[in-house]
Amino acid sequence: MMKLKTTFLALALAGAATMAAGVTASAQKATVGIAMPTKSSARWIDDGNNMVKVLKERGYNTDLQYAEDDIPNQLSQVENMVTKGAKALVIAAIDGTTLSDVLKQAKAKGITVIAYDRLIRGTPNVDYYATFDNFQVGVLQAESIVQGLGLKDGKGPFNIELFGGSPDDNNAYFFYNGAMSVLKPYIDSGKLVVVSGQMGMDKVATLRWDGATAQARMDNLLSAYYGNKKINAVLSPYDGISIGIISSLKGVGYGSADQPMPVISGQDAEVPSIKAMLRGDQYSTIFKDTRDLAKVTADMVDAALAGKEVTVNDTKTYENGVKTVPSYLLKPVVVYKDNWEKTLVDSGYYKKAQFQ
Ligand code: BGC
Repeated sequence: MMKLKTTFLALALAGAATMAAGVTASAQKATVGIAMPTKSSARWIDDGNNMVKVLKERGYNTDLQYAEDDIPNQLSQVENMVTKGAKALVIAAIDGTTLSDVLKQAKAKGITVIAYDRLIRGTPNVDYYATFDNFQVGVLQAESIVQGLGLKDGKGPFNIELFGGSPDDNNAYFFYNGAMSVLKPYIDSGKLVVVSGQMGMDKVATLRWDGATAQARMDNLLSAYYGNKKINAVLSPYDGISIGIISSLKGVGYGSADQPMPVISGQDAEVPSIKAMLRGDQYSTIFKDTRDLAKVTADMVDAALAGKEVTVNDTKTYENGVKTVPSYLLKPVVVYKDNWEKTLVDSGYYKKAQFQ
């Protein structure tokens, strides 16, 4: 009897173990498709790597694709993920409005869709949004310009030009609006002068966040409006755009003792731009820790696939034209010459050697 009992217990335990293994094995089999926009910017390479790392640690298979900023390419990559049976999609869209058809198919298959960093617009078939507080990014960029110019000490008036991000990226409007919430009062009071008069995303946007496009626009602004004037600040939404702006300014002699570089903002804390900051060419950038974004996104995947409640901290801000997408917003951090090492190296995001 005793023996039987033991055997029964052993069998039961073995059964439970097999079941547990079965559950784990099926969870392990779930594939998460990760669609990233481009490898031309280091931040997205970090995003892709971090997503894969976190998801693998949690037992998922991953299918990571980059589309080199080509919209049809990204579309077919996502279509493939759906066809191949991904259980969740994590998408940083190139153009946030072009994915409606494929997401309809995804929805029909019960796939969880997470907009990653950039909102997916014009479709009900996006479940969650993991990002940073994009309005706050713009606020921080503009506040760094206010600080760099000494506007709060009453200095000025100063000449400024404004650059926006890609008009097909919802974030670009949040960055611009956040920045203008800080700059507008100074523009209204005449302490900041947009010499070209070019304001509003319809005038200042930079398609595909392209540095060369920004450089060409800066060349035009300098030759058309700054023949006998100096420019003191440039609002730039992204490090790659700042690099284009800096090249243009250097081309006409800025960056010397009698013609100092204007105060220039940026975003993403990319290595070449931190170096530009250390040289004094760029004034600030915004650090968005992609390790945290990957973790928040993986938490969403875990909860959604387990049928549990997904943690979000914003259910009001990100209206995509069809619905308000439940979001998790992380905090961006402004980086200057005096806190870059603490923020970027001490946190383990970069190695000091990358800057030597
Ligand atoms: C991201 C920024 C990035 C920009 C260009 C935006 O959607 O939020 O971090 O600078 O795209 O890649």
